[in-house]
Amino acid sequence: MSNTPESTSKQQHPDALDAIIIGAGFAGLYSVHNLRDKLGLRVKAFEGGGDVGGTWYWNRYPGARCDIESHHYSYSFSEELQQEWSWSERFPAQPEILRYLNHVADRFDLRKDIQLNTRIISAQFDEKSCQWVVETDDGCTHRARFFISGAGVLSTPSMPNIKGLDSFAGETYLTAHWPEEKVDFSGKRVGVIGTGASGIQVITEIAKEAGHLTVFQRTPNYAAPIRNRPMDAEIERQIKENYAQIREDSRNSFLGIPYPGTLPSAMEVSAEKRRERYEEAYAAGGFQLFAGTFADLITNQESNDTAAEFLREKIRERVNDPVTAEMLTPKTHAYATKRPPLETGYYETYNRDNVTLVDVLDTPIEEVTAQGIRVGDTMHELDVIVFATGFDAMTGPLLSINPKSEQVSLTEHWADGPRTHLGLTVHGLPNFFTITGPQSPAVLYNMPLAIEDHIDWLSDCIAYMGENGYTRVEATAEAEKNWGELTAEFAKPTLFDKTDSWYMGANIPGKPRVFLVFVSGAQEYRRICAEEVAQGYPGFKLN
Ligand code: NAP
Repeated sequence: MSNTPESTSKQQHPDALDAIIIGAGFAGLYSVHNLRDKLGLRVKAFEGGGDVGGTWYWNRYPGARCDIESHHYSYSFSEELQQEWSWSERFPAQPEILRYLNHVADRFDLRKDIQLNTRIISAQFDEKSCQWVVETDDGCTHRARFFISGAGVLSTPSMPNIKGLDSFAGETYLTAHWPEEKVDFSGKRVGVIGTGASGIQVITEIAKEAGHLTVFQRTPNYAAPIRNRPMDAEIERQIKENYAQIREDSRNSFLGIPYPGTLPSAMEVSAEKRRERYEEAYAAGGFQLFAGTFADLITNQESNDTAAEFLREKIRERVNDPVTAEMLTPKTHAYATKRPPLETGYYETYNRDNVTLVDVLDTPIEEVTAQGIRVGDTMHELDVIVFATGFDAMTGPLLSINPKSEQVSLTEHWADGPRTHLGLTVHGLPNFFTITGPQSPAVLYNMPLAIEDHIDWLSDCIAYMGENGYTRVEATAEAEKNWGELTAEFAKPTLFDKTDSWYMGANIPGKPRVFLVFVSGAQEYRRICAEEVAQGYPGFKLN
């Protein structure tokens, strides 16, 4: 039987849902709760993983930890949830976040509307029935009025195209798809490819266990200490007493984390004062160096150079061997134009006798053989290879499904880079919402709050449609064009486009090189979204 929209649209669809949701991570879980329990919709989320958790289900590699403070990296929608949940550490490790998301799924009775181990593989809007027809990898077809992506922004892993990959005789692991059972590295010769946020975390942990660890580094990063510690009971009490204010402050700060005392420019203070600020932020940990020192670090090259040089000095201080220290010192890109990783003892890892750093920038990895990895003339014999090689960020998860209507297919529509209105909707794809989609602040806005904002917004939009008798909402071509121009205008004064990063799509061969983020800061973005509602959705056609 054909499952095309045309063949099924004349049938009655008693089983049609109101909303189909991609994923059961932070976004999918809150979507189910909000749309079902607030709006009373019939919803179903499809999740490829074997349990809820999204990013935190898949990225269970040793050392995986969120680098935003636990009380910030959590839902704000339920005061009861905020009060009853206790975080054990300042920065939550992956198992604790996964426990939290499981608690949320149980507490709000979300599991009954989530189908696990099931991926959405295609989605087509049927004009006649005004429904999305969604195919899952178990061979079933589902229909719903609304199609909502909580597919995540860093959920399509990227494997490098290296000659001979399949020939390796040992074990291989991908940080982004880590197995549930513990991997035993003891006494083994382990190679890690990649030194981004994931690589830096996994390298630090594997070095403690492996017989020998070889790190294959292409681009060194500006990593700074996270300064994790157990949660202090008094601090927890103060947080719980002030949650409302904390959330308000978060939503009114650039990154969605309220670090106080940011000064306008690194160039407007003396060298001594600047140094003092950087030292304080380095000692305080978290994202304070990036978000809590000077506001012009990502717009002013001179200011950025001062932060970059500060971090280079720290690396040289912490790594004993000057040659290794030089290899670990970033020189070719501005600070924070690749997302700055946070670490605990990462640089000291290279002071261990069982760790070797191999530069694969000037001499790239030649091939993988049954025995290991060849770089130039040198063969590095290995028992295990770990790939910490990143993601097809932001657009990858959506393009792999390629939602279509009669007018538009997403892959064609985004052939030269994403086109959206508000980073949340796409012209030509009615009733489709992309939570933390490209051209939204997403990855430069504390993710759980960015997710809640988007879901609250789309939920209000759906409620407005119901109240006014509309069944179809679609961004206008003009709104989409304007949003693209505004996104580019905000990106223009920044230093981001000077660096090849996943923010620019530059880590994926053939991907259009465009800045994928709306970089206005959370406050301005939220103002624009609120204005769209206050003015009666001028950027949309409703009927
Ligand atoms: P990533 O930042 O894209 O890093 C990928 C690494 O793999 C880079 O060092 C890259 O080198 C290297 N690489 C890729 N292909 C290679 C090849 N063929 N040969 C050698 N090296 C290669 O990916 P990620 O570390 O998974 O992090 C992605 C994002 O996830 C982060 O930026 C962050 O937003 C998020 N994340 C957050 C946390 C946290 O909260 N603590 C932890 C992990 C991840 P180049 O730089 O030269 O391309």
